[in-house]
Amino acid sequence: MNLHSLTLHELNGKLKRHEISSEELTESVFRRISATEEKVHSYITPCYETALREARKADERFKTREKWSSLLGIPIALKDIFLTQGVLTTCASKILGNFVPPYDSTTVKKLKEAGAVTTGKTNLDEFAMGSSTENSAFGITRNPWKLDRVPGGSSGGSAAAVAADQCITALGTDTGGSVRQPAACCGIVGLKPTYGRISRFGIIAFASSLDQVGPLTKDVTDCALMLEEIAGYDPLDSTSIDVPVPSYTSYLNGDVKGLRVGIPKEYFIQGMQAEVEQALKEGIQVLEKTGIGVEEISLPHTEYAVAVYYIIATAEASSNLARYDGMKYGYRAPAKDLTETYMKSREQGFGPEVKRRIMLGTYALSAGYYDAYYLKAQKVRALIKKDFEDAFRKCDAIITATAPTTAFKIGEKTLDPLQMYLSDIFTVPTNLAGLPGLSLPCGFDSEGLPIGMQIIGKHFDEATILRIAFAYEQATEWHKRKPNL
Ligand code: GLN
Repeated sequence: MNLHSLTLHELNGKLKRHEISSEELTESVFRRISATEEKVHSYITPCYETALREARKADERFKTREKWSSLLGIPIALKDIFLTQGVLTTCASKILGNFVPPYDSTTVKKLKEAGAVTTGKTNLDEFAMGSSTENSAFGITRNPWKLDRVPGGSSGGSAAAVAADQCITALGTDTGGSVRQPAACCGIVGLKPTYGRISRFGIIAFASSLDQVGPLTKDVTDCALMLEEIAGYDPLDSTSIDVPVPSYTSYLNGDVKGLRVGIPKEYFIQGMQAEVEQALKEGIQVLEKTGIGVEEISLPHTEYAVAVYYIIATAEASSNLARYDGMKYGYRAPAKDLTETYMKSREQGFGPEVKRRIMLGTYALSAGYYDAYYLKAQKVRALIKKDFEDAFRKCDAIITATAPTTAFKIGEKTLDPLQMYLSDIFTVPTNLAGLPGLSLPCGFDSEGLPIGMQIIGKHFDEATILRIAFAYEQATEWHKRKPNL
């Protein structure tokens, strides 16, 4: 039996019954990393030594009689955007190429308290800007299902690591789809919780009104277990919200009778891959058979979501990234004076996509254009949010495809940023509205690439999403397939 290929909940039982040790499990995961990393390249910084130390500590804790967290001894990968004390944290940027944080993000602190084992820091698009993990200063990540394809992005390293069994679960962040879209591309489960559900303290900021932490897992149960551990109010994040964290796993009982889901007609667009549309329609039929009511709904402002997102996200990014100036921390270019230090450090430290976004955002916020772009975008954002509020008066959740196509070829969209931005068309509206959304596998295309179905819920109603996702998973076998690496 390969321990690395099991789920969190399967391993949890084995660890608690002392059938295996965390050290054995961690060794198994690192053997898998050694065997596959050359092909996939999920990690920027694997942490073998510290992982083994943490595993041994977890094994010590298993010897006591205390009540163990479900994450105790479980190898978990972190997108390289989470601050980790004493461990290099690059955000896939040259400008943070030498940055070792002096403290842990709140999520990492929670994982450590739970006794999880950190396998390492995974690859991403620089500053989480992208949908393919090609915008990394540290090389590209390949899709474990087909090595000439992207794993999605920006949390592509985390998604590929989970799909390739190079960790048991992983964490990513989602500003416009960066957990759900790579989950869809890699055939796994990815959840973006409600804005404010998980602390953003110690997450390198991209667009602060949209960013949210989310788990990437092998199945729905693992997703619920992860969320239970990392959700909750944090006084260090003024946008985190103080609402109780339910026991999400207690909702996973397969009983979904009486729930209603809406299918937004605006989410069937021109240019959508026919196989994706087909898989989604079949997925909806499966849901109907579980006893869920299905009806068509309308989200009329959907067509503006990508434009609104790329104005707001770039505006916020241009402000958040002002701190990387070559003076405070990170990369500093040799220069003759202060101005030249600023200019050269940024010129050499940032990649082309990050520069493009800083320029777009600065433009949208500048005096003459603020009203026409930024303010207008905020108004349309309110309309998009209202669309969802209206829809949720009729249904408990909304079902869509996660992305319009399966994983595209490496290099296919790098020269055309607009094409790249359009891969976020189904995921950005939920970020703009602050709603939770989950992606889970609902089929494969003729090339053997996974297809994702998205379930969007009401604010703080992750429980209903997970309940529906679990019922769907019970009725299908997609989540059991593994890439042949
Ligand atoms: N792909 C989107 C972008 O490039 C979303 C990224 C994200 O969610 N971090 O902005």
